[in-house]
Parts: sequence; C-alpha cells; structure tokens
Amino acid sequence: MPIRPELAHEQPYGAPQLDVPVLLNVNENPYPPSPDVVETISREVARAAEGLNRYPDRDFSELRQDLADYLALETGVAMDPFSVWAANGSNEVMLHLLQAFGGPGRTALSFAPTYSMYPEYARDTHTRWITARRDEDFTVDPRTAAAAIAEHRPSVILLASPNNPTGTALPPSTIEAVLEAARTADPATPAVVVVDEAYAEFRRAGTPSAVSLLADHPNLAVTRTMSKAFALAGARVGYLAAQPDLVDALRVVRLPYHLSAVTQAVARAALRHRDTLMAQVGGLREERDALVAWLREQRTPAGAGLRVADSDANFVLFGTFADRHAVWQGLLDRGVLIRETGPDGWLRVSVGTPQENAAFRRALTDVVEALT
Ligand code: PMP
Repeated sequence: MPIRPELAHEQPYGAPQLDVPVLLNVNENPYPPSPDVVETISREVARAAEGLNRYPDRDFSELRQDLADYLALETGVAMDPFSVWAANGSNEVMLHLLQAFGGPGRTALSFAPTYSMYPEYARDTHTRWITARRDEDFTVDPRTAAAAIAEHRPSVILLASPNNPTGTALPPSTIEAVLEAARTADPATPAVVVVDEAYAEFRRAGTPSAVSLLADHPNLAVTRTMSKAFALAGARVGYLAAQPDLVDALRVVRLPYHLSAVTQAVARAALRHRDTLMAQVGGLREERDALVAWLREQRTPAGAGLRVADSDANFVLFGTFADRHAVWQGLLDRGVLIRETGPDGWLRVSVGTPQENAAFRRALTDVVEALT
C-alpha cells in the first residue's frame, strides 16, 4: 500500500475492547441514559429522521445555542452561540484546532504524562510534537511551561485539565501563566492555548473552569465533551468555547455537514435533561473520592503503600507496581478491565457504579494477595 512512510508502522489508537463484566478502562459514565432520556432522544431522532433526505444544518445553530446556555449555567460565564463550536467528539474538535493552527513547520506543545491522542493529532496534521514534563505530583510548573514555550515557540499549546491519565486539574493561575508566556514569546501572534476540559464537570469544588478566562484571551480555546458527564460517549459530541474569531478559523477546516442531523438531535435531547444527568455526576464524584481514600490505604505486592494521584476526574491513577501488567492481568482474570497507561508502574481505573467499584476493590485485594 502506498501509505505515507511515517504511518507505515503505526497501530490504530484504542484500548482493548474486551467482553468483561466490569468495564473500568475508558473513563465512560457507567450509567446508561434513563428511560425518560431515552424517550426524549428517540422522539427527537424520529423528528430528525423525517428530514434526512436533506443535509443537516451546517452551522448547527440550535445546538450551539443549547451548548452556550449549558456552559453559561455550568460556569457562570455568559456565552453566545458564535463562541461555541462542536464536532464528533472532542477528538474531532481538537483535530480541527490542529488543522487550523498547526501544520508543517509548526509545533504543538504539551506536558507529559498527558492524553495519548495529542501526538496523533499532531502527526496527522504534520505538526511537530514536543512535550515538557509535569512535576512529580503531575501539576504543571509555570516556570517549566514558560521556559518550554520560549524555547520551542509552539503555535498550539495543549493543556488537559483535569488531565488524563493523572486526573490533575490546573489552577487558573497556571493557565494564565501559560497564556502570558505565549504572549511574551510572540506578541504579534501568540500560540493558541487549548485547555481540554473533557472531565471538567467532575472537578472538585474550588477549581474554576478556564471558561472564566475567555473574555480576556482571544487565543484561548476550552474544549469539552458530552462523552463523560452527559453519559453520551456513543453519540460522539464534543464542543469548544472560544472567541468568535477563533471559532471562525475552525469553520474553514471542518468537512461540510460534519455533524449529522441525528447527532444534533441526540445532543439537544440530552442537554434538556442536564439536571438529572448532573445529579449523577455528584454521585460519581463521591464514589471517586471514596475510591481514592480506599486506594491510599492499600499496599503493593512488594509491601509499599500505594501512591494515588489526586483526581478531579472520573478516574484514578494509582501505583506504583514493579509489574503493573501482572496486576492488570490479575484484575482482568477476575472480570475487571482497567487501563494499563500512564508512567511506568501506574494503572488507571475509571469510577463505576458502587457495585462495580466494590468488584474492583475485591479484585485488587485478591490480586495483591496472590502476587505477594
Ligand atoms: N480529552 C481527553 C483528556 C480525554 O480523555 C478524551 C477521551 N478519553 C477526549 C478528550 C476525547 O473524548 P471525546 O472524543 O469522546 O469527546
């Protein structure tokens, strides 16, 4: 096949899709849509089906309005539909960002360990990919960030907050420091700073969203998704908030009619149930905090106390294991699938229902005992 040489030995991205009773590996929301959410979605999809001979609204105006309303409620920051963009998952939103602001001769910078799709967006848009390090506690040191920005002069900076796979949320002061460093490095055309808030709804009290910084920063984009808090991973809806000029640049690179009429209808239907769905998020946050506390009391097979990263997301990173694969496999053998990801020796578990979390706790206790 005449595949591009740099792709010749690449594997498609994705966690193993295994048929296992307890799935805690891809940070999904464990609660399926309730019957009344399913009913609203079905009704709205049926209505959309009546017009499927026509292309959908290319500018998805009604969905943008609904997303703007939701964001304004969630963050307390007024938002208009021209400041909102959406696509098939925040994966596609971020690809649009790299298509518009990356490219040959340009650099994207992020802070490792972080979301493993970022280098793929860079690769697919011929953007040079550079990472600086996060600190031991997985936060980003503003001085490290400023030095890396001055050295590499990126045109796109990707900051996941809360970060995957560590769960770390960044304080607005760090994001402001990055914005400032971007402006100092290139006052005429500062880098686009993307704050990936895929897990924002799970953040602990006291960490404001970067949406509050949008008004003062035309080069800031905050991405979100309906895959996690809205329990809508299967529908593929991600979105972004930014000033309208930045959003306009994304309109240039999107495929025509990239958001199907069905997708738009599903997203709008789910947004109408935001109160019920957000109530579930509160429960998941409590389960997460309980899981962090429990993990902190556990030991590795070698007898050391477990290290557990603080989490503002719906997953927890824990370790460190001399042989993390053995622990992962042991859990899988007991019907619990988690993710072998992150720095050496660490594992990541998504927060499930109380029953699923209990199954994980039982299985981990058993595995550690068996390996000791
Ligand atoms: N950003 C981060 C940090 C993620 O972890 C994920 C999904 N795992 C995404 C973006 C993409 O999510 P989606 O495409 O489902 O919106």
